[in-house]
Amino acid sequence: MRMRLEVDGLTYAYGERPAANDVSLRVGEGEFVGLIGPNGSGKSTVLKQICRALTPQRGSVRLDGEDLLAMPYRRSAQKVAAVGQEGEVPFDFTVEEMVSMGRSPYKRLLEPDTAEDRQVVRRALERLGMVHLARRSYLHLSGGERQRVLIARAIAQESGFLVLDEPTNHLDIRYQMEIFDLIRRMDVTVLAAIHDLNLAALYCDRLYALREGRVVLEGTPEEVLTPEHIYALYGVRSAVNRHPLTGRLSVVFLPGGTESTDSREEELS
Ligand code: ADP
Ligand code: MG
Repeated sequence: MRMRLEVDGLTYAYGERPAANDVSLRVGEGEFVGLIGPNGSGKSTVLKQICRALTPQRGSVRLDGEDLLAMPYRRSAQKVAAVGQEGEVPFDFTVEEMVSMGRSPYKRLLEPDTAEDRQVVRRALERLGMVHLARRSYLHLSGGERQRVLIARAIAQESGFLVLDEPTNHLDIRYQMEIFDLIRRMDVTVLAAIHDLNLAALYCDRLYALREGRVVLEGTPEEVLTPEHIYALYGVRSAVNRHPLTGRLSVVFLPGGTESTDSREEELS
């Protein structure tokens, strides 16, 4: 079920200046790849093009060698599931109805859920610990609960590729870890914008860093998350060490270590 992603030269501008500029990246089968970078660096713009919420103005997206942008939407939705940043819905759906929408790429319009659909939805709710909320209104949930519903919906979609845009930013630390652990255990390929560098270091096999719409760094967490790179990207001083318990990198930010963006312009180019 896991899939391989190849993105080449992806470019998109909302206005004059491209928000994603000639972005190329690779996610190998079964890999968990993170997208980092400051606010406004283009992470969401890149991810939206990969899940077809935006149409690229230039560039290509291929899944297992097949042109994603040329596929019928139904077919690409069977392959790619997305959890976006905006969880807004126009109608008052229940949690169960929201998760059932994950089944729509497999059905005709208005075709009722089969017993199998209902089972898939049930299992997804169980995995997120949300069965007790199944009949509740999605609109009345907290931000964190909504986020878990959207993740359950993506799981119910049973696609081999997950695109996640800061999927746990409303969640407390326990749910953040649970959800990343859960996704890591799934037999899928993942590309995720992750804003917390420690979570990125814990869960990602490789990272791409964006700045002003361009990929400026790529590599393993060890290669990307150096104090020099973190400073160049975010303007914050940090200490980076390998944690003895996790064996993964741990980033500690140092107070009073910020500086305006202008004075570190040339460091990454
Ligand atoms: P990130 O997800 O890394 O914070 P975004 O992809 O959301 O970055 O934004 C990249 C740039 O595009 C920013 O400068 C942002 O202001 C701009 N942008 C994003 N969405 C829109 C939009 N719908 N209309 C106009 N500009 C946008
Ligand atoms: Mg974003």
